[in-house]
Amino acid sequence: MIPIQMVDLQRQYRKIKPEMDAAIQAVIDSAAFVKGAQVEQFARHLESYTGARHVIPVANGTEALQIALMALGLKHGDEVITPTFTFIATAEVVALLGLTPVVVDVDWGTMNMSVDAVRKAITPKTRAIVPVHLFGQCADIEPLLDLAREHNLYIVEDTAQAIGARYTFSDGHTAQAGTMGDIGCTSFFPSKNLGCYGDGGALFTDDDELAQKIRIIANHGMTIRYHHDLIGVNSRLDTIQAAVLDTKLPHLNEYIAARQRAADYYDRAFAGCDRILVPERSQHSTHVFHQYTLRIVGADRDALREALTKAGVPAMIYYPIPLHLQKAYQDPRYKQGDFPVAERLAACVLSLPMHTELDDEQLAFITKQVLNFVNK
Ligand SMILES: *Cc1c(COP(=O)(O)O)cnc(C)c1O
Repeated sequence: MIPIQMVDLQRQYRKIKPEMDAAIQAVIDSAAFVKGAQVEQFARHLESYTGARHVIPVANGTEALQIALMALGLKHGDEVITPTFTFIATAEVVALLGLTPVVVDVDWGTMNMSVDAVRKAITPKTRAIVPVHLFGQCADIEPLLDLAREHNLYIVEDTAQAIGARYTFSDGHTAQAGTMGDIGCTSFFPSKNLGCYGDGGALFTDDDELAQKIRIIANHGMTIRYHHDLIGVNSRLDTIQAAVLDTKLPHLNEYIAARQRAADYYDRAFAGCDRILVPERSQHSTHVFHQYTLRIVGADRDALREALTKAGVPAMIYYPIPLHLQKAYQDPRYKQGDFPVAERLAACVLSLPMHTELDDEQLAFITKQVLNFVNK
């Protein structure tokens, strides 16, 4: 059996090696390492793929979130609502900009931001909501958009884990993750569903003015060369990374299908086992399975993880500590017990290997190891 990894980027690369090597070599030959033609070319291709009017590539997903909040002109003390069960980046940029992160609980089944919790967290100081499309499935964006309209708030989608996921609105129309709010932010970190060979990220927006402002902020706040109208940052996608992404983008739908196939295999294998809860599929969104995350409810999660590791099956805990219990984010507003669903998830989630190269032999081995442990 081929050794099992959380993410197998080597085998994915080997399948596209000739085209990938040629694309990277072309950048080296041109020596246009920064702002080469491939950057804008990739942005145009990603616009066609996602349906976003503007795609603005930047250096990584965290900076995409920071630039989004800067472009919206939020001020010190403005409140930004974000889920407590997620990666740190969202709350981090909110705090860095002197804004006030307001965290909310998530839903037990989808693990995504709870709309009811958001509704209750809105105050006169709230300016924006940042839903995270966690693990590859869209948060329930339609009621969030309704809330935003009602209270005059911005929506910045964190779609770092969900590029290619599709949400269906109640009137039947569909849209891609990252293209439904005012701004969408994504990451091309290597293990993401569309990953480059280093760091990368992008912002999506349909708003021409916001797009212009985002481009200026990402480029030192510069309008004309050496004329700085805004305080900005230096955030660029390298040309080599753009060439890598432009080579992988035509394969993204196959990659998503391979992940969904592995997820279906896992779902079937665990269907009869009530000690394990498989990820709940949203009625409103497709799932692109950035992660396949179980909730271990009838066995010792940490002992299971240890047993799997011993058997050669890596498994990860995304995420072990909710934001409101992180040391750096201690806040008199929050204490242990305030967000019971997130706290319970942090104690029971386990993500299994999930990538584009999993074969049936590996999937059979992984599921057998899990079931042997929980049924013993
Ligand atoms: C990966 C990720 C980010 C940050 O992306 P980087 O490119 O690593 O900065 C932000 N939010 C979520 C939910 C992520 O998974």
